[in-house]
Amino acid sequence: MDANHEGLAPASILVAAGRQPRVPGAGVNAPLELSSTYIADGPVNYARGGNPTWTAFEEVLGALEGGSALVFSSGMAAIAAALSLASGGSVIVAPTHAYSGTGLILNSLEKARRVIVRRVDISDTAAVIAALEGANLLWAESPTNPMLEIADLPRIFEAAHSVGAIALCDNTFATPLVQQPLSMGADVVVHSVTKYLAGHSDVVLGATVTAHTDRGRKIQSALAQHRLIHGAIAGPMETWLALRGMRTMHLRVERSSANAAELAARLQIHPGVERVRYPGFGSIIAIDVHGGSAGAETVAAQVRLWTHATSLGGVESLIERRRRHSSEASTVPDNLLRLSVGVEDIEDLWRDLAAALTHVSPSH
Ligand SMILES: *Cc1c(COP(=O)(O)O)cnc(C)c1O
Repeated sequence: MDANHEGLAPASILVAAGRQPRVPGAGVNAPLELSSTYIADGPVNYARGGNPTWTAFEEVLGALEGGSALVFSSGMAAIAAALSLASGGSVIVAPTHAYSGTGLILNSLEKARRVIVRRVDISDTAAVIAALEGANLLWAESPTNPMLEIADLPRIFEAAHSVGAIALCDNTFATPLVQQPLSMGADVVVHSVTKYLAGHSDVVLGATVTAHTDRGRKIQSALAQHRLIHGAIAGPMETWLALRGMRTMHLRVERSSANAAELAARLQIHPGVERVRYPGFGSIIAIDVHGGSAGAETVAAQVRLWTHATSLGGVESLIERRRRHSSEASTVPDNLLRLSVGVEDIEDLWRDLAAALTHVSPSH
């Protein structure tokens, strides 16, 4: 495969990377390779260690993020692999409002006395820098899920490096189209590929991407070894579907972001909405609605085009009250609805959402 995508824009990388060599008769797409073992003496001998479909996917994601990618069986498998970089007794600085699964795994590592976790408001740069004293790993997420707080990534990555800590970023929400943490100084990026990268709510998959630096290369081999010996490997079919979904990510994200910007502006003046959280980019909006948790559940139950479901980043618009999950941080408001805006027609989305919101409008 042609691995030289330097100088290409993300849209071109998404379409052109991870293809077959251009020899007459070759398929234009990467093969879906369903073999557990390979004829001896090749580069890979057993499929827990490698697969051509992984390689194609990893080439696209690596080129997009500007690093080396590894595909994992889920976002959580990638997160667990990344947390294995923190040796026993490590101090980890993490956002109070990290993704709830990240919160759960940090809690369990803490409970088992494997690590010490310092939770901070990741948007409070001074607090992050203060917490980094003596830390071994900075876990950043920006925007955060679901509060959409924004971190000053270059500043906090630099502060992490100044104390010798690994700088990590969960880039699921922003996508590499909006921000490339490795170019801002991160050592490693994690993704839930399940979300925007795959984009069609049909696979669960994850990935890590490491920087082209000495530290990044060391991390890369530790993560590859973790994947091999813990067996957190992606199915070739899921990987192939994710690669196919990624070919149009720029188009999907462009449309869903435009839809989200318009919806955020309209929600700002809707009487049923107390507060709109929207960072000014991306396709996720969080709204605090009138009527408390019951009001929020009513809105989620009333929509017809939107779907009441967890997750995000697919072509279809989803809505969910996050606090219905006991794993969600208690500082997330009870009446907060997370909206994952899809690529449907904006007027249809608005009509449906506005109608559901009339049930919690004060005049109702
Ligand atoms: C969904 C999500 C994850 C977990 O990924 P899975 O693919 O569900 O295992 C991690 N981080 C963020 C920000 C997410 O939204």
